[in-house]
Amino acid sequence: MCKCGICGNIENNTLYVVKEMMFGYKDQFKYFKCPLCGCLQILNIPENLDKYYPSNYYSYGIFSGHTSLQSKITDFLLSQVLKSRISHYCFWGEIACLYKSLYADYFSGVSGAYLNYNSKVLDIGCGAGKLLLKMKKCGFKYLEGIDPYLKEDIKYINGVCVYKKDIYQLDKTYDFIMLHHSFEHMPEPKKVFEKLSTILSVNGMIMLRVPLVDSYAWRKYGIDWFQIDAPRHLFLHTVKSINILAQNNGLKILRTVYDSRANQFIQSEKYMRDIAIANDSDIFTSREISTFKKSADLLNSLKDGDQACFYLIKE
Ligand SMILES: [Zn+2]
Repeated sequence: MCKCGICGNIENNTLYVVKEMMFGYKDQFKYFKCPLCGCLQILNIPENLDKYYPSNYYSYGIFSGHTSLQSKITDFLLSQVLKSRISHYCFWGEIACLYKSLYADYFSGVSGAYLNYNSKVLDIGCGAGKLLLKMKKCGFKYLEGIDPYLKEDIKYINGVCVYKKDIYQLDKTYDFIMLHHSFEHMPEPKKVFEKLSTILSVNGMIMLRVPLVDSYAWRKYGIDWFQIDAPRHLFLHTVKSINILAQNNGLKILRTVYDSRANQFIQSEKYMRDIAIANDSDIFTSREISTFKKSADLLNSLKDGDQACFYLIKE
């Protein structure tokens, strides 16, 4: 029996069979979609889930102090965007937003939070802590990350700590909690939201970035939509399912920013052609890719992109 992990509905769920295509194992997994809250979810979590997080899975390499000129420039731009978002107008921050719209999207909702450089920041599912290290360079003092898939804890010399932990092992409170595409990997989203509401400080903010199944890309590509990412993505949410989780835990969505990218077309088209994402072959011309980028921007403006950032606060 399929019981929705968000709203508990058991009737008229639609079944889908989805293939693993990031690494090209092509193993098949059953998912079902709830007609009430719209959430698409895996029917059974595979016991051997570790198999699908091999060592070359991105974001687990420890970062050295060496950075290229290009990454120094992007670090500077990010620091200026953050400065303008959390404090006041910053000339370079505004320029950086124009130059790199991704940054503008990234922290655009932060201005509604009581966020400052002394805020206690937590990144859940942070990998080796790349973003935390960038935020450290921006001036944030208290930065912590957790990721259960790490080999071991990492304590960077600059004070940033990244722990091999899951969310249930946390007992402090935090002012700014980030989940950058980690929530969809977690079983029991209801329990995760319960925990989030207890570790969020009174005036704190949660920044939740997830793929969205109530999107053009799902309607166009269906089981070939690359963000299903079977079997790693266990829950593919809708605005409605996130709202249900928030309301049931004394939280509310303050703002939603759609930040989908050209990947929704490029990678889903590869799925359709049975080409693994790990296969780097270019199947599109630069002109086609530029059209995909424009389409992603348009979908974001129409609130129909395949991912978004939700800014949540306590009610
Ligand atoms: Zn449901």
